[in-house]
Parts: sequence; structure tokens; C-alpha cells
Amino acid sequence: MNFSQRDKKHNWHPYTQHKTVPDFPAIVKGKDALLWDENGKEYIDAIASWWVNPFGHSNKVMADAIYEQLTTLEHVLFGGFTHNKAVELSEKLMEILPSNQQKIFYSDNGSTAVEVAIKVALQYNYNKGIKKTKVIAFEDAFHGDTFGAMAASGITFFTEAFKGSLLEVVRIPVPTAGNEEQTIKTLENLVKTNEFAAFIFEPLVLGAAGMVMYSAEVLDKLISICNQNNVFTIADEVMTGFGKTGKTFASDYLENKPDMMCLSKALTGGTIPMAITTFSQEIFEGFYHDDTDKALFHGHTFTANPTGCAAALASISLLQTDEIQQNIQTVHQSHLAFQSKIKNHPKVKTTRVLGVIFALEIKTETQESYYGTMRNKLYNFFIENGVILRPVGNIVYILPPYIIAENQLQKVYQTIENALEIV
Ligand SMILES: *Cc1c(COP(=O)(O)O)cnc(C)c1O
Repeated sequence: MNFSQRDKKHNWHPYTQHKTVPDFPAIVKGKDALLWDENGKEYIDAIASWWVNPFGHSNKVMADAIYEQLTTLEHVLFGGFTHNKAVELSEKLMEILPSNQQKIFYSDNGSTAVEVAIKVALQYNYNKGIKKTKVIAFEDAFHGDTFGAMAASGITFFTEAFKGSLLEVVRIPVPTAGNEEQTIKTLENLVKTNEFAAFIFEPLVLGAAGMVMYSAEVLDKLISICNQNNVFTIADEVMTGFGKTGKTFASDYLENKPDMMCLSKALTGGTIPMAITTFSQEIFEGFYHDDTDKALFHGHTFTANPTGCAAALASISLLQTDEIQQNIQTVHQSHLAFQSKIKNHPKVKTTRVLGVIFALEIKTETQESYYGTMRNKLYNFFIENGVILRPVGNIVYILPPYIIAENQLQKVYQTIENALEIV
């Protein structure tokens, strides 16, 4: 039996109904934007393996940095100790984060980064004797799969089974073009109740919802409403961070900076699982007290893992090189060219581009569900043709490694064009 067949005996995959899926390809090797399965079939990784990989697979700079750290200090506990890599990384982040971000809390993945932000928002108020226990989030948001993060997420079939066991979250519409006023009004009415500790959002792009985009102007307005009403703002930049939107962070497009930010995914260049939640000084001071009970009693075994920190340092250095910045521009320009070519296709409803992100909605008669028939047909077509794309309902999006070669990107576009003929 090959790996593909052996896999099924013990492995339980994410977001997978095992009864209805075929054997999964077993990937055994990766280089740059390419992956190979055990039969030697080649795939273009057009979604950077769930948005984590900006510099390509098996990147030598990343591998060297990790090897060096593994053979110097692979791990040390972060309770009662610090280490040089955590210090260097927090200093490096201060150079690139919005200037109101002053404190760094480390965890392991995007969901934990969100958990930490939500817990901090609630406990900040608790420490001051203020009763604010609810959170505001967008409809269709995705913030992760742990309980707090899941509560904030609005994609219902992800969370339906746990209704009733979740933190209280009230949703406002995504302020896509034409919807802005409605969102602003809804938020204004909510914050007046003084029941909300925080508003959490994916800035400018809702990733898992299908790369749904909205403007920086309206987000600035929403943040300003929260600021005026003492509601903390949490920018979940787990997907948007580290260059995806064309700037280092989506928050760099904003005048009003969020109080907290959640980072993961591309943070370590797609190598070591790690996440960071960042905070303004004001928030940190809400926990800074003679009373031990007012501390943030949250941590993870691998908090600030030195190997993860070394990977993040290498990744940020790579991101800052002229070459990678140029790559981001090149991908962006190619997306724009493809957009003008495809937008008038009779089967295309709408297209959108921001930074290295391209999305296209296919015209449909009925509402297509997230993992519905059209999605599965498209997904299978892409995989057969050696292109890794994971459509969301009728939305096909591309978020490639920044280093993807032009001919590879052209193959991705061509495969999408061909796919329009089969739906
Ligand atoms: C992926 C994602 C998360 C969750 O991250 P995990 O590492 O999968 O737990 C949270 N927020 C956003 C915006 C994401 O894209």
C-alpha cells in the first residue's frame, strides 16, 4: 500500500467528512511554489498551503536559520526565563508594527492568538470592576476553531454544534460596497449598550469567507466608533499579515490603529507553528498591578519557542528584501492583468484583487454552499490539473507564495479559465 492508502487507517483530517472523500494525494517533496506527490505528480501550490508560505517550500534561508537555532537552543521555557531570540523578535516587530503596539504575547497558532486577545479584552474590564462580557464580530468572519475564536466566527456550520456553549458574540454585516452605512449604524447602536469588551475583525479581507473585501475608510470609521465608546479593537491579521495585502499589515492602510493584533500563518514563513498577539501599552497596564490575581494567567508549553522565534526573524528579514517586495508587486500586477482579461467572461459575476490576493465569483442560479457541489467539482478539476486551489462555494481565489514564477501563475490563471467551462 502507498502512503495515500495507508493514511486512511489512522489519520483524521481537518474539515473532512471521511465517508465521502477519495484518497488524498500524499505529498513527499516541495520546492518553491511546487509540490510533488508519491507518484511524482507535480502541483502548483496556488494558495501557499493555507496562506502560510510566502517564500516557497523548502526555502534554504529559512531552513538554515532553523537548523542553526536547533543546534544552539531548540527550546527553553518562557515562564521565569527569557532568551535572546524572543528579545530580538519583539524588537524587530516594534520596527514593523503600527507604533501603538508595544507588547508581544506568544502562542502557537491563529486560534490561540485570537483566544488571547479575547481573554485580554474581557479580563482588562474585569480587573477594573467593569462588566463588559460580549464581543462584536462580522457576519461570515473566521477567527479560528478553539472556543473563543469559534464563538467570534460567523460561518455557521463550523460552529452550529456548539451553540449555547459559546461566548456571547453579536454580529454586524460586512461593510462591502453599498453596505457601509448599515454596518456603521448597527455598530453605533451596539456600542451604546456598554456591554461590549471588543470588536474583532479581519482587516480589509475576510479570508475564509472567500476573500471578501471592504474598504479601509469604512474600517477607520468603525474603529473610531469603538475608540469613542471604550470598546477595544482587535485586528485579526492571521491571514492578512506579512505582505498579503501589498503592505506589511492590512492595518498599515488605516489611520486609526487597532488596540490589539493577532499574527500567525506567514509569521514563520510557513515553517514552525507560532503565533503572536500584540497590545497597546494601555492594555498591558490594565494587568500591571501589585495584585498577582490581576495578571494574565494564560500560557502554552511552547510559548515563545526559540526555534519559532528564529524562524520568524528570518522570515521578516526575507520579507524586507527588495527581491521579495518586488515579487509581491509582480504577483499583484499579474493579478490585475488577469482580472481585466476575465472580468467580462459570461460566467464571472465579480472579481477582486488586493496585494497578492485574487478572487473571482462564478455566476450561479442558486446559493452555493461552502463545501457544495460546485465547489467540489471545481476543486477536483484543479487537483486533476495539478493546481492547488480550494474554492469556497462559487468563489475561486488565488493566494500564491510571493516567489511563484510567472509561467506558474499563468498556468493557474489558464486552469481557472478552463474550469469556467466545466461549471
Ligand atoms: C487561519 C485563521 C485563523 C486560525 O488560525 P489557525 O492557525 O488555523 O488556528 C484565525 N484567523 C484568521 C483570519 C485565519 O485566517
